Amino acid sequence: MRKPFIAGNWKMFKTTKEAVAFAEEFKALYHDSDVTAAICAPFTQLAALKEAFGDCGVKVGAQNMHFEESGAFTGEIAPAMLTEIGVDYVIIGHSERRQYFAETDETVNKKVKKAFEHGLVPIMCVGEVLEQRDAGQAYDVVKTQVEGGIKDLSAEQMKQLVIAYEPVWAIGTGRTATPEQAQEMCAYIRQVIEGLYGSEVSEEVIIQYGGSVKPNNASELMNMEDIDGALVGGASLKPEDFIQIVEF
Ligand code: PGA
Repeated sequence: MRKPFIAGNWKMFKTTKEAVAFAEEFKALYHDSDVTAAICAPFTQLAALKEAFGDCGVKVGAQNMHFEESGAFTGEIAPAMLTEIGVDYVIIGHSERRQYFAETDETVNKKVKKAFEHGLVPIMCVGEVLEQRDAGQAYDVVKTQVEGGIKDLSAEQMKQLVIAYEPVWAIGTGRTATPEQAQEMCAYIRQVIEGLYGSEVSEEVIIQYGGSVKPNNASELMNMEDIDGALVGGASLKPEDFIQIVEF
Protein backbone atom coordinates (compact mmCIF):
# COMPACT_ATOMS: atom_id res chain seq x y z
CA MET A 1 0.00 0.00 0.00
CA ARG A 2 1.52 3.34 -1.04
CA LYS A 3 1.03 6.11 1.51
CA PRO A 4 -0.11 9.34 -0.16
CA PHE A 5 2.56 12.02 -0.19
CA ILE A 6 1.72 15.70 -0.65
CA ALA A 7 4.67 18.08 -0.93
CA GLY A 8 4.59 21.84 -1.20
CA ASN A 9 7.16 23.53 -3.43
CA TRP A 10 7.53 27.11 -2.31
CA LYS A 11 9.97 27.98 -5.12
CA MET A 12 11.53 31.41 -4.45
CA PHE A 13 8.85 32.62 -2.06
CA LYS A 14 8.77 33.43 1.67
CA THR A 15 11.35 34.91 4.02
CA THR A 16 12.26 33.10 7.24
CA LYS A 17 9.72 35.09 9.22
CA GLU A 18 7.00 34.21 6.74
CA ALA A 19 8.06 30.56 6.72
CA VAL A 20 7.85 30.28 10.50
CA ALA A 21 4.44 31.99 10.53
CA PHE A 22 3.24 29.43 7.96
CA ALA A 23 4.59 26.54 10.05
CA GLU A 24 2.86 27.73 13.21
CA GLU A 25 -0.46 28.06 11.42
CA PHE A 26 -0.15 24.82 9.49
CA LYS A 27 0.85 22.80 12.54
CA ALA A 28 -2.38 23.75 14.23
CA LEU A 29 -4.37 22.43 11.25
CA TYR A 30 -2.42 19.26 10.46
CA HIS A 31 -3.42 15.94 12.05
CA ASP A 32 -3.53 13.62 9.10
CA SER A 33 -1.14 10.75 9.71
CA ASP A 34 -2.57 8.84 6.75
CA VAL A 35 -0.87 11.28 4.42
CA THR A 36 2.79 12.31 4.42
CA ALA A 37 3.08 16.09 4.13
CA ALA A 38 6.23 18.08 3.37
CA ILE A 39 7.27 21.62 2.56
CA CYS A 40 10.18 22.15 0.16
CA ALA A 41 11.50 25.61 0.92
CA PRO A 42 14.40 27.85 -0.08
CA PHE A 43 17.69 26.83 1.58
CA THR A 44 17.76 29.72 4.05
CA GLN A 45 14.37 28.72 5.48
CA LEU A 46 15.07 25.01 6.03
CA ALA A 47 16.59 25.11 9.52
CA ALA A 48 13.90 27.44 10.84
CA LEU A 49 11.17 25.27 9.32
CA LYS A 50 12.62 22.10 10.85
CA GLU A 51 12.55 23.76 14.23
CA ALA A 52 9.12 25.29 13.80
CA PHE A 53 7.50 22.02 12.65
CA GLY A 54 9.27 20.14 15.46
CA ASP A 55 7.75 16.69 15.92
CA CYS A 56 4.35 17.49 14.38
CA GLY A 57 5.10 15.09 11.52
CA VAL A 58 5.41 17.57 8.66
CA LYS A 59 8.59 16.87 6.72
CA VAL A 60 10.99 19.39 5.21
CA GLY A 61 12.63 19.30 1.80
CA ALA A 62 15.12 21.34 -0.21
CA GLN A 63 14.53 22.32 -3.83
CA ASN A 64 17.96 21.44 -5.19
CA MET A 65 21.49 20.42 -4.16
CA HIS A 66 24.86 19.85 -5.79
CA PHE A 67 26.05 16.37 -6.74
CA GLU A 68 29.53 16.82 -5.29
CA GLU A 69 30.41 16.33 -1.61
CA SER A 70 32.02 19.78 -1.31
CA GLY A 71 34.36 21.95 -3.34
CA ALA A 72 34.86 25.20 -5.20
CA PHE A 73 31.26 25.59 -6.43
CA THR A 74 30.30 29.13 -5.48
CA GLY A 75 26.65 29.48 -4.64
CA GLU A 76 25.93 25.75 -4.39
CA ILE A 77 24.70 23.63 -1.47
CA ALA A 78 26.17 20.21 -0.59
CA PRO A 79 24.09 17.24 0.58
CA ALA A 80 25.76 17.12 4.03
CA MET A 81 24.65 20.72 4.61
CA LEU A 82 21.07 19.53 4.23
CA THR A 83 21.31 16.37 6.30
CA GLU A 84 23.03 18.22 9.16
CA ILE A 85 19.86 20.24 9.72
CA GLY A 86 17.61 17.21 9.36
CA VAL A 87 16.20 17.80 5.88
CA ASP A 88 14.21 14.76 4.68
CA TYR A 89 13.61 15.33 0.97
CA VAL A 90 15.20 17.11 -1.96
CA ILE A 91 13.49 18.06 -5.22
CA ILE A 92 15.73 17.16 -8.15
CA GLY A 93 15.35 18.26 -11.75
CA HIS A 94 12.31 20.51 -11.42
CA SER A 95 11.39 21.83 -14.87
CA GLU A 96 12.37 25.35 -13.78
CA ARG A 97 15.86 24.04 -12.98
CA ARG A 98 15.98 22.24 -16.32
CA GLN A 99 14.74 25.33 -18.18
CA TYR A 100 16.64 28.16 -16.45
CA PHE A 101 19.66 26.44 -14.89
CA ALA A 102 20.65 23.93 -17.54
CA GLU A 103 19.88 20.77 -15.60
CA THR A 104 20.02 17.65 -17.74
CA ASP A 105 19.02 14.03 -17.23
CA GLU A 106 22.70 13.42 -16.51
CA THR A 107 22.95 16.00 -13.69
CA VAL A 108 19.59 14.81 -12.38
CA ASN A 109 20.93 11.27 -12.21
CA LYS A 110 24.11 12.36 -10.41
CA LYS A 111 22.06 14.32 -7.87
CA VAL A 112 19.56 11.51 -7.31
CA LYS A 113 22.38 9.06 -6.60
CA LYS A 114 24.18 11.52 -4.32
CA ALA A 115 20.99 12.24 -2.39
CA PHE A 116 20.53 8.51 -1.68
CA GLU A 117 24.15 8.23 -0.55
CA HIS A 118 23.31 10.78 2.13
CA GLY A 119 19.96 9.34 3.15
CA LEU A 120 17.92 12.09 1.50
CA VAL A 121 14.84 11.04 -0.46
CA PRO A 122 14.84 12.61 -3.91
CA ILE A 123 11.63 13.90 -5.48
CA MET A 124 12.65 13.54 -9.12
CA CYS A 125 10.63 15.71 -11.51
CA VAL A 126 9.82 14.81 -15.09
CA GLY A 127 7.39 16.25 -17.62
CA GLU A 128 6.95 17.36 -21.20
CA VAL A 129 6.48 20.89 -22.57
CA LEU A 130 3.36 21.81 -24.56
CA GLU A 131 4.98 21.50 -28.01
CA GLN A 132 6.08 17.98 -27.15
CA ARG A 133 2.58 17.02 -26.01
CA ASP A 134 1.03 18.56 -29.12
CA ALA A 135 3.53 16.71 -31.29
CA GLY A 136 2.59 13.39 -29.64
CA GLN A 137 6.02 13.07 -28.01
CA ALA A 138 5.01 13.33 -24.34
CA TYR A 139 5.43 9.63 -23.53
CA ASP A 140 8.82 9.35 -25.22
CA VAL A 141 10.09 12.51 -23.53
CA VAL A 142 9.01 11.35 -20.08
CA LYS A 143 10.41 7.85 -20.65
CA THR A 144 13.80 9.31 -21.57
CA GLN A 145 13.77 11.57 -18.49
CA VAL A 146 12.78 8.71 -16.17
CA GLU A 147 15.34 6.28 -17.58
CA GLY A 148 18.08 8.91 -17.56
CA GLY A 149 17.32 10.02 -14.02
CA ILE A 150 17.20 6.56 -12.43
CA LYS A 151 20.23 5.10 -14.22
CA ASP A 152 22.27 2.79 -11.94
CA LEU A 153 19.86 2.96 -8.99
CA SER A 154 19.57 -0.25 -6.98
CA ALA A 155 16.15 -1.84 -6.54
CA GLU A 156 16.12 -0.71 -2.89
CA GLN A 157 16.82 2.90 -3.89
CA MET A 158 14.25 2.72 -6.64
CA LYS A 159 11.56 1.68 -4.15
CA GLN A 160 12.22 4.80 -2.09
CA LEU A 161 12.43 7.28 -4.97
CA VAL A 162 9.56 9.73 -5.37
CA ILE A 163 8.78 10.71 -8.96
CA ALA A 164 6.78 13.85 -9.69
CA TYR A 165 5.12 13.97 -13.10
CA GLU A 166 4.72 17.65 -13.86
CA PRO A 167 3.64 18.54 -17.39
CA VAL A 168 5.36 21.89 -17.90
CA TRP A 169 2.27 23.36 -19.56
CA ALA A 170 0.31 22.84 -16.34
CA ILE A 171 2.79 24.51 -13.96
CA GLY A 172 1.65 27.87 -12.66
CA THR A 173 -0.77 28.22 -15.55
CA GLY A 174 -4.01 27.22 -13.87
CA ARG A 175 -4.34 24.66 -16.66
CA THR A 176 -4.32 21.31 -14.82
CA ALA A 177 -3.92 18.07 -16.70
CA THR A 178 -7.20 16.18 -16.58
CA PRO A 179 -7.20 13.37 -14.01
CA GLU A 180 -7.22 10.93 -16.96
CA GLN A 181 -4.20 12.56 -18.63
CA ALA A 182 -2.32 12.61 -15.33
CA GLN A 183 -3.28 9.02 -14.49
CA GLU A 184 -2.27 7.77 -17.93
CA MET A 185 1.21 9.23 -17.65
CA CYS A 186 1.73 8.13 -14.05
CA ALA A 187 0.66 4.59 -15.01
CA TYR A 188 3.06 4.74 -17.94
CA ILE A 189 5.94 5.80 -15.65
CA ARG A 190 5.14 2.85 -13.37
CA GLN A 191 5.18 0.58 -16.42
CA VAL A 192 8.62 1.89 -17.46
CA ILE A 193 9.91 1.15 -13.96
CA GLU A 194 8.29 -2.28 -14.02
CA GLY A 195 10.10 -3.05 -17.25
CA LEU A 196 13.44 -2.27 -15.62
CA TYR A 197 12.94 -3.45 -12.01
CA GLY A 198 9.88 -5.71 -11.96
CA SER A 199 6.47 -5.16 -10.43
CA GLU A 200 7.52 -5.72 -6.83
CA VAL A 201 9.56 -2.52 -7.11
CA SER A 202 7.27 -0.52 -9.41
CA GLU A 203 4.26 -1.06 -7.15
CA GLU A 204 6.08 0.64 -4.27
CA VAL A 205 7.25 3.78 -6.05
CA ILE A 206 5.37 6.93 -5.07
CA ILE A 207 4.40 8.89 -8.18
CA GLN A 208 3.07 12.42 -7.65
CA TYR A 209 1.27 14.65 -10.08
CA GLY A 210 2.17 18.35 -10.14
CA GLY A 211 0.87 21.33 -12.07
CA SER A 212 -1.88 23.66 -10.82
CA VAL A 213 -3.06 21.31 -8.06
CA LYS A 214 -5.59 23.29 -6.01
CA PRO A 215 -8.03 22.53 -3.18
CA ASN A 216 -10.85 22.11 -5.69
CA ASN A 217 -9.13 19.57 -7.96
CA ALA A 218 -6.90 17.63 -5.54
CA SER A 219 -9.28 14.83 -4.63
CA GLU A 220 -10.17 13.76 -8.16
CA LEU A 221 -6.47 13.66 -9.07
CA MET A 222 -5.53 11.78 -5.88
CA ASN A 223 -8.28 9.23 -6.42
CA MET A 224 -6.70 8.00 -9.64
CA GLU A 225 -5.06 4.61 -9.25
CA ASP A 226 -1.47 5.48 -10.10
CA ILE A 227 -1.36 9.00 -8.63
CA ASP A 228 -0.01 8.72 -5.11
CA GLY A 229 0.34 12.36 -4.21
CA ALA A 230 1.00 15.86 -5.44
CA LEU A 231 3.77 18.39 -5.79
CA VAL A 232 2.05 21.69 -5.14
CA GLY A 233 3.43 25.11 -6.02
CA GLY A 234 1.17 28.15 -5.67
CA ALA A 235 -1.43 26.47 -3.48
CA SER A 236 1.19 25.44 -0.89
CA LEU A 237 1.88 29.04 0.09
CA LYS A 238 -1.22 29.48 2.23
CA PRO A 239 -1.85 27.10 5.17
CA GLU A 240 -5.62 27.14 4.58
CA ASP A 241 -5.17 26.04 0.95
CA PHE A 242 -2.42 23.53 1.53
CA ILE A 243 -4.27 21.78 4.37
CA GLN A 244 -7.25 21.20 2.10
CA ILE A 245 -5.00 19.47 -0.41
CA VAL A 246 -3.29 17.39 2.29
CA GLU A 247 -6.72 16.35 3.53
CA PHE A 248 -8.04 15.64 0.05
P1 PGA B 1 1.98 24.98 -9.42
O1 PGA B 1 3.52 24.48 -9.38
O2 PGA B 1 1.22 24.12 -8.43
O3 PGA B 1 2.04 26.41 -8.98
O4 PGA B 1 1.51 24.80 -10.81
C1 PGA B 1 3.84 23.12 -9.29
C2 PGA B 1 5.35 22.92 -9.31
O5 PGA B 1 6.04 23.63 -10.06
O6 PGA B 1 5.88 22.06 -8.60
